[in-house]
Amino acid sequence: MKVLAVNAGSSSLKFRLYEMPKEKELISGTFERIGIEDSFYTIKLNGERVKKDRDLENHAEAFKILVDELILNKVITDASEIKAVGHRTVQGGEKYDHTVLVDDSVISDMERYIALAPLHNPASITGIRAAQEVFKDAVQTAVFDTAFHATMPKENFMYPVPYEWYTEHGVRKYGMHGTSHRYVSKRINEILGKENTKVITCHIGNGASISAVVNGKCVNTSMGLTPNAGLMMGSRCGDIDCSIVPYMMDQAGMTTKEIDNVLNKHSGFLGISGISSDARDIEDGVEKGNERCILAQKMYVRRVINYIAMYYVEMGGADAIVFTAGLGENSVETRKLVLEGLSVLGVKLDEKANSVRGKEKLITTKSSKIPCYVIPTDEELMIARDTYELANK
Ligand code: ADP
Repeated sequence: MKVLAVNAGSSSLKFRLYEMPKEKELISGTFERIGIEDSFYTIKLNGERVKKDRDLENHAEAFKILVDELILNKVITDASEIKAVGHRTVQGGEKYDHTVLVDDSVISDMERYIALAPLHNPASITGIRAAQEVFKDAVQTAVFDTAFHATMPKENFMYPVPYEWYTEHGVRKYGMHGTSHRYVSKRINEILGKENTKVITCHIGNGASISAVVNGKCVNTSMGLTPNAGLMMGSRCGDIDCSIVPYMMDQAGMTTKEIDNVLNKHSGFLGISGISSDARDIEDGVEKGNERCILAQKMYVRRVINYIAMYYVEMGGADAIVFTAGLGENSVETRKLVLEGLSVLGVKLDEKANSVRGKEKLITTKSSKIPCYVIPTDEELMIARDTYELANK
């Protein structure tokens, strides 16, 4: 069965087509700048990447072009061969603790949660509607980023604010990157060869979060009501003293929108370094002795170590620590600094093994008390698996 995994942004559409249950990737790509000028798409097929400029008015048009390309490249002969489409969806509120088939009530719930994910949920809805238009008979599923975190105990997902903020406004920790944390925590259990495990999964990319996972179930995670919680990120501040918000609004005469923009888009690596939100630029700056890049890296690493330590204590130990996403998979230096900072827990870095990028690998020595791994994440595969399973129910 051909299953399409989709990740729709407001002006982009990432896709990957699988032959399931073989989990064979047939084709992948991205449509960019949808609805704005200079739109284009890239397609990867048989290891070759092709870029084409093309006006893309909306997401439905992008899907239609995708169908044309699939037919042209002899991946399918007709759109009806795509039997199921899985959509990455960010916010599923408290209601969705697993992937579901999309119907009108799911879409209206997603609309209800827009206030919690103002950038992401509208884009997902657009993607779903466009896919319904083009793949008329296909099963559509919504794979929620928040779903994996639904198993957190109440004492971990509640904030110490008036209880009515939770009951009346839904103020609680939801967590994000759930599909990635689920994928790598499942994979590490396969590697460890057991299900009853305590693992710490570090999804550290441009957006970053860490989860504590016991027996395959999330018990805590660093993102919160929104993605701007927990770790320091590329351009997000993560955890800060919340009174900084009213203080700076008064000091600088900022509106809520303006301060939210600063804390989401001009903080983190970018805010501290003043140079870039990209970890590679920060690492270059560190090499050149740039003081603010050195500070940004130290602050970043400190927060990752602190969260790992917190979850280690919370779970009463850890059978493994996993690194994934942009920095987790590729930043040799970040992993080195983090593991060195965990030496008090008996973690012993294997420098040679750690010089790895984008590959599954054990990066600690045999004598390390906690084995640490790089595991490349694969959210699309997880979406395809869930979607295939639901389509066959
Ligand atoms: P997103 O949250 O946008 O999905 P990614 O998971 O793609 O982000 O991560 C992007 C981050 O990973 C960027 O900060 C980038 O600099 C970092 N990264 C990618 N490759 C490397 C590398 N070789 N060394 C250090 N950092 C890297």
